[in-house]
Amino acid sequence: MANQQHDLVVIGGGSGGIAAARRAAQHGARVALVESGRLGGTCVNQGCVPKKVMWHAAQLAHALEDAAAYGFELELRQHDWPRLKTGRDAYIARLNDIYLRNLEKDGVQVLRGQGRFSEPTKVTVDGRVLSAKHVLVATGGRPERPDVPGAELGIDSDGFFALAHCPERIAVVGSGYIAVELAGMLRALGAKVSLVVRGTQLLRNFDRMLGEALLESARAQGIDVLLQTRVQSLALADHGLRAVLQDGKAMDLNCLIWAIGRSPNTEGLGLETAGVTVTKEGFIATDALQNTNVPGIYAVGDVTGRAALTPVAIAAGRRLADRLFGGQADRRLDYSQIPTVVFSHPPIGTVGLSEAEARAQHGESIKVYTSRFNALYYGVMQHKVPSHMKLVTAGPEEKVVGCHVIGQGADELLQGFAVAIRMGATKQDFDDTIAIHPTSAEELVTMR
Ligand code: FAD
Ligand code: NDP
Repeated sequence: MANQQHDLVVIGGGSGGIAAARRAAQHGARVALVESGRLGGTCVNQGCVPKKVMWHAAQLAHALEDAAAYGFELELRQHDWPRLKTGRDAYIARLNDIYLRNLEKDGVQVLRGQGRFSEPTKVTVDGRVLSAKHVLVATGGRPERPDVPGAELGIDSDGFFALAHCPERIAVVGSGYIAVELAGMLRALGAKVSLVVRGTQLLRNFDRMLGEALLESARAQGIDVLLQTRVQSLALADHGLRAVLQDGKAMDLNCLIWAIGRSPNTEGLGLETAGVTVTKEGFIATDALQNTNVPGIYAVGDVTGRAALTPVAIAAGRRLADRLFGGQADRRLDYSQIPTVVFSHPPIGTVGLSEAEARAQHGESIKVYTSRFNALYYGVMQHKVPSHMKLVTAGPEEKVVGCHVIGQGADELLQGFAVAIRMGATKQDFDDTIAIHPTSAEELVTMR
């Protein structure tokens, strides 16, 4: 068995692993990166990127429906899903190549295969042994399945990206990011969609206004949202699948997607051999500096169970590399005030505390500003998709601690507001900023 010595071995070539490996190599470290699948990880291959392509397709579908109000006379034929998939897959294949080239350009050694600890400082990959002073685990996660009869007959978000055609009749189970995003896209592209939600609301972990507004929009788009129920069993039927719900009602479907959360990829990693502690949910336990309990072993990204978002994994990975190899001893990621967008229809942008969280933290010192309006875009048509905005402020100086938006443009408008909020902007700073007219974003600086 060959034994190669490195400064850093990274297990997992997704968002966090690649970012850390490249930054460490740029600081002069000898780095090896081990990847068992396709470079780029979940985000590039089964997450953000193919999802955003599908979201654009769905946006176009909505725009085509609206086009008549703007004077266009269009004769639409069927949407060609296979053509869209071919273009999307080709784009991703190009990205896989770009990721490899960038790693090679920075001098990172890329090894294909399953990485596994054989000792705390040794990682084996298909019989090869890599030794390093530092090992980073960035193995991400995978979709969960519930423990119900026939669960294996459904698909998950990975399966969604493999679909060769748009299913005619589909159920999406869940009410988090993935469920609402996929339900919106499938509906826009022509599927009859049921969204099966176990609780009473969508997006339970967000400001309540967002879930309520999305529920209203989803129903207006024709998504059949079933609240407070679960799929109890799934079985093959003549036409495809039959799902039976808690109340005994049956749904005949061509496809069912489980979108009920993700589990960390920790099996087969040899974490016990290395002595690495995991949380009771199975995520790798890390401190503020991404250290695990074992000196020299670190973890970033989804496998740590903290804010499972690509820019978070990237930022944590780069900061770790800066700390270990860039002479920046205190460099670490601040996990507060992380802005995020849900690519639903309409999209959601949110940063900071929800109203309920702000009340719990700041008590009666919070003040909330809200606005509901129809974007100018809908002025020439009967059909409207309302926008909702909320600013949550705290203390006598009315520091903005939360900003929540659902509506056209929410996805692109949030980033700049996130900078202002991070810098400590107050409501007065928002008010003192000249509005950009006519936009939806201007509502955030004109709220009374
Ligand atoms: P991953 O990107 O999952 O990478 C882990 C890598 O490790 C994988 O390539 C895997 O093959 C490899 N691996 C696992 N075990 C081993 C092993 N033993 N040896 C070698 N390699 C191994 N985030 C956003 O910010 N915006 C979005 O719009 C967004 N959309 C999403 C849509 C979907 C459908 C999903 C599922 C996720 C989405 N996310 C989004 C989340 C985002 O994809 C993840 O937060 C991000 O990919 C996490 O990066 P990571 O490096 O932790 O893990
Ligand atoms: P989420 O954690 O967002 O949501 C999981 C959902 O599944 C919740 O609504 C939960 O309901 C529901 N659920 C859990 N167990 C069951 C069950 N047994 N039966 C029915 N429903 C169940 O996970 P996702 O899978 O949607 O996404 C994983 C992560 O990926 C996200 O948290 C996010 O960090 C990331 N992501 C980011 C995106 C973006 O940035 N745009 C897009 C997609 C994913 P309840 O509310 O009742 O607990």
